[in-house]
Amino acid sequence: MTKAAVYYFDNNATTRVAPEVIEAMLPFLKEYWGNPSSAYQFGHQVAAHIDEAREKVAALINADPREIIFTSCGTESNNSAIHSALVTHSNKKHVLTTAVEHSATIKFCDFLQRHGYEVTYLPVESDGSLDLHLLEKSIRPDTAIVSVMLANNETGVIFPVEEIAAICRSKGTLFHTDAVQAAGKLKIDVEEMGVDFLSLSAHKLHAPKGIGVLYVKKRTRYHPYVIGGTQERGRRGGTENVANIAAFGRAAELAIGGLQDENARVRGLRDKLEDGILRVIPGTVRNGAKEPRLPNTSNIAFEGVEAEGILLLMDQLGICASSGSACTTGSLDPSHVLLAMGCGAARARGSIRLSLGIYNTKEEVDFVLKHLPGIIEKLRATAPVTAGS
Ligand SMILES: *Cc1c(COP(=O)(O)O)cnc(C)c1O
Repeated sequence: MTKAAVYYFDNNATTRVAPEVIEAMLPFLKEYWGNPSSAYQFGHQVAAHIDEAREKVAALINADPREIIFTSCGTESNNSAIHSALVTHSNKKHVLTTAVEHSATIKFCDFLQRHGYEVTYLPVESDGSLDLHLLEKSIRPDTAIVSVMLANNETGVIFPVEEIAAICRSKGTLFHTDAVQAAGKLKIDVEEMGVDFLSLSAHKLHAPKGIGVLYVKKRTRYHPYVIGGTQERGRRGGTENVANIAAFGRAAELAIGGLQDENARVRGLRDKLEDGILRVIPGTVRNGAKEPRLPNTSNIAFEGVEAEGILLLMDQLGICASSGSACTTGSLDPSHVLLAMGCGAARARGSIRLSLGIYNTKEEVDFVLKHLPGIIEKLRATAPVTAGS
């Protein structure tokens, strides 16, 4: 099977598994396949490697290894944090979050709303930022948990989580942050941030899909979401996904090593790509604040065209990008994040996200810059004229 060239600019959807990470997994598929909970040596050996991976992931966020729970994905981690807060504070029925969270938070909150809980979705400013004064005012005596992401997956906009955590502490409310997009791109220090819960997902940092982490601060009460065996010190039932856990450990180690140099390089490429598009193609504008922002993400609106058309023509050249989040594509609805920023439906529908990663090259950026102007020109020449966009 021959594989056509792929120009991958969708690293916020998922990332290529690093060769080093694949190497780290293989022993647990080939030789050390025992159940880590078994009483014999063949099981214990495996358990020791889980501990090692747990230490490495803990180091990525400056946590104690005992504060790390391995889950099946970032979605499970987000669900689990909110679920735990509601179970351990059963007299509190209110959840405070934002209108721009990932569907892993929003859809779970929608579900809660249909089952007797109250949810407030905080609006954002036009640059995607939050009004912290409004956030503070929105915390109620019956607010069980506040959940605000560390960095937005569609625009890359970074929220001041340290300040939000301090507000929550002063109000006696638990705080969760979805750090799935931030991990590997920003330095994360749970001690400095002062969060109760923090979610990670391995496939956003060059490990396989299907493995996540929920950090739970030492003295924060926790009630399991997946109930069964006593794995993860009774906090998450289910036989451990050992190969994926080992992969996450190795990916965390690589991420720590590349945090400065790799991200500086990725930022350079992202800026070259974004500046190039905004300069060369008329009728373009960036969605979301320029800073503070993830170093790899660019979200751009193209006046008078539909993202669907852009993505289709890019795909014919092997360029992978997306409109909104991969978890909501397939629906014709414009991005809930861009709508919350007040973009308007037409602009939201004409926006695409380009998200870079450590494997992107200058040549790939040049390839996009070479072809995108022609794509937009072609679409504009054939598009029906839309009134006043
Ligand atoms: C990808 C993503 C998730 C979901 O993680 P999965 O492991 O795919 O379930 C949650 N939050 C954000 C911000 C994401 O980008």
